[in-house]
Amino acid sequence: MTAYYTHPTFLAHEMGPAHPECPQRLAAIHDHLTRKGLMALLDVREPTEVSDAAILRAHSVEHLDRLVAASPTDRPYQGLDPDTTMNHHTLRASYLAAGAVVGAVDAVLTERQRNAFCAVRPPGHHAERNTPMGFCFLNNIAIAAHHALAEYELKRILIVDFDVHHGNGTEEIFADDDRVLMVSTFEHALYPFSGDIPLGNNMVNVPLAAYSDGQAMRRAVTEHWLPAIERFRPELVLISAGFDAHREDDLSHLMWSDLDYAWISQQLVQIATQHCNGRIVSSLEGGYAIQALARSVGHHVDALLGG
Ligand SMILES: [Zn+2]
Repeated sequence: MTAYYTHPTFLAHEMGPAHPECPQRLAAIHDHLTRKGLMALLDVREPTEVSDAAILRAHSVEHLDRLVAASPTDRPYQGLDPDTTMNHHTLRASYLAAGAVVGAVDAVLTERQRNAFCAVRPPGHHAERNTPMGFCFLNNIAIAAHHALAEYELKRILIVDFDVHHGNGTEEIFADDDRVLMVSTFEHALYPFSGDIPLGNNMVNVPLAAYSDGQAMRRAVTEHWLPAIERFRPELVLISAGFDAHREDDLSHLMWSDLDYAWISQQLVQIATQHCNGRIVSSLEGGYAIQALARSVGHHVDALLGG
């Protein structure tokens, strides 16, 4: 069974008119999955808020205090980062987004759920231990990975990040932590302009040139990710699933197609089947061409359902 986590509060977090990271992204995903008949096959769940203790495994006390202090009661607060605005729903949405990924980890490690997709906002992979940035406040995937390490005593967690932007936050939080292998592709040079020099030996970073297509991504996965994953033998696969490398997405210059997202998703399902009873927790990061996002998530969820 594939669990699907989402919550109405994810739609209430808004960063202003014309901001690409908008509530309509989730609405389009929901509509598409419903139209395709996929929603009816999913175990749809509402998350609960993550605990402060779980957040503080990945973030500093100062970071959390800063978010709580910045959370506005009326007018939006823009003082954290120019792209990363808080309205009065943002803090709760962030707690629920991280809570979704943590809850999904619990579900795949203790129940009969095979895998899970978390349709969350705000995303997380740019949030560093001390720094909210790039539309991200809490690093959902990093919090969930730390939760799995601490609560289930896992020894080898694979984090996959195929968002078009480098997952600087996740890399910073897990650099040189041998319990985690992080593999990623991203356009370089593009925001946040990092990743070309990995921060640790447990990082397999594959920068892709602007205007490269899905073939370049498939080579990166086959030649760089798969051998490292084979040696690592993960016990759990976590995915920072960003869909902004799509050719229709204006925030980047990569040229992936819907079918490239189907391909990479099937590869990851295969890896999880081979190494860890199919255990995957995937969480939404970017993807701003709304229809392309919805279709690509459809392929991703379809692969999870087949896993
Ligand atoms: Zn992105």
